[in-house]
Amino acid sequence: MTTPSLTELLTNPSCMEDYDPNAMSVSQAKSYIRQYLQAVSHTETLPIHDSLGRVIASAVVSPHNVPNHHNSAMDGYAFKHADGINQLHIMGTAFAGKPFSGEVFTGQCVKVMTGAVIPLGADTVVMQERVTVKDGQLHILELPKQGANIRLAGEDITLGQTVLSEGHLIRPADLGLLASLGIPTVSVYRRLKVAFFSTGDELVSVGKPLAEGQIYDSNRYTLYGMLIRLGVEVSDLGAIPDDPQLLEQTLLKAASENDVVITSGGVSVGEADHMKTLLAKHGEVLFWKINMKPGRPLAYGKLHTNHHTAHYFGLPGNPVATMVTFYQFVRDALLHMMGATVKPFPTFKVTCTAPIKKAQGRTEFQRGLLFESGGDWQVKPLPNQSSGVLSSMSFANCFIVLGEEIGHLEAGETVSVQLFEGVI
Ligand code: AMP
Ligand code: MG
Repeated sequence: MTTPSLTELLTNPSCMEDYDPNAMSVSQAKSYIRQYLQAVSHTETLPIHDSLGRVIASAVVSPHNVPNHHNSAMDGYAFKHADGINQLHIMGTAFAGKPFSGEVFTGQCVKVMTGAVIPLGADTVVMQERVTVKDGQLHILELPKQGANIRLAGEDITLGQTVLSEGHLIRPADLGLLASLGIPTVSVYRRLKVAFFSTGDELVSVGKPLAEGQIYDSNRYTLYGMLIRLGVEVSDLGAIPDDPQLLEQTLLKAASENDVVITSGGVSVGEADHMKTLLAKHGEVLFWKINMKPGRPLAYGKLHTNHHTAHYFGLPGNPVATMVTFYQFVRDALLHMMGATVKPFPTFKVTCTAPIKKAQGRTEFQRGLLFESGGDWQVKPLPNQSSGVLSSMSFANCFIVLGEEIGHLEAGETVSVQLFEGVI
């Protein structure tokens, strides 16, 4: 079946059989969003130093064998295995970076340091701990297998092998790998531009005093942190009061200059009037009720300005819900748009030490503390799971992911967890 356009979904929600904006599962919502995303196409060439966290735009192929010579894995002596345990005359020494210039003939050996090129004629290295040396003669105590202690040329990487594929997110090991191949620059996708702002009359930015009923805007800070970690170019457009004109100005500025616009707050039904009207006026935005906790309302769509279309994510305002919906929907979507090959979060099963109350039919992302006890890892849910309690995200170190099919759990049952480390 062909994918309906966002407008078709908006005007005729029944055009897709399993589409119900008022009861979306987490996986359905993810796959709907996925259908409307494209990766950026512009690329740039960067010195490898500057490429950490960027996405490889064209596969990197090795211009060499690594290692490029057979070399010694040990400090020892290189010799011909066919000589057996006979006494061998030591002809000289090969150091890492300073090869022995001659050849090894029958009855001869060369002292080799770890990393030294194996001299011509030799085929085996005996460790220095397995020999005795007297008057320039080597006596092997225990004959190693033929080829022992030699790292073969091309053993790590062969000439012409793809070492980093298109879509690979560059990590520290990759910088070293590129350097080990003598590759100074790499072609990567351009950075994604993401603007974000908070909405709400009650919001005050840090540094100003709070009047009664006001709260500090925390979502902009968590969003900033999550986006910076993803390596996108961010634009923080502030905390905007629920004023239609200000919201419209900010939304249009954000949409005209960025690939993606993210807002928090004002997407719940009944309260979202301004945003909803504006989003309908300037784009095609879907409002979904997701079967998840926290983070029930979510808006996704596209915003059109004169010459440009931006993707839009409207996240719920409750601080934990903002983070959870970001991790479950926005993160994957941004990675996809960055050109990266998106991999699922690693999920582990551990024993939960406390009972959990949960309704079936929705996915919950509870905040948990993984701890070690007697050599095993266990998880404890934090006591306050309210979606407004942001400290739970700071104190926790994992999500306890409870699928739709799961109901109440007794202490001692197995649950799935997603570690914050490496993700957050
Ligand atoms: P909303 O999604 O706008 O209905 O907001 C839900 C709850 O989240 C309300 O209690 C808001 O005060 C709170 N909230 C909304 N935006 C923010 C924000 N940027 N920082 C902290 N709390 C927020
Ligand atoms: Mg609000």
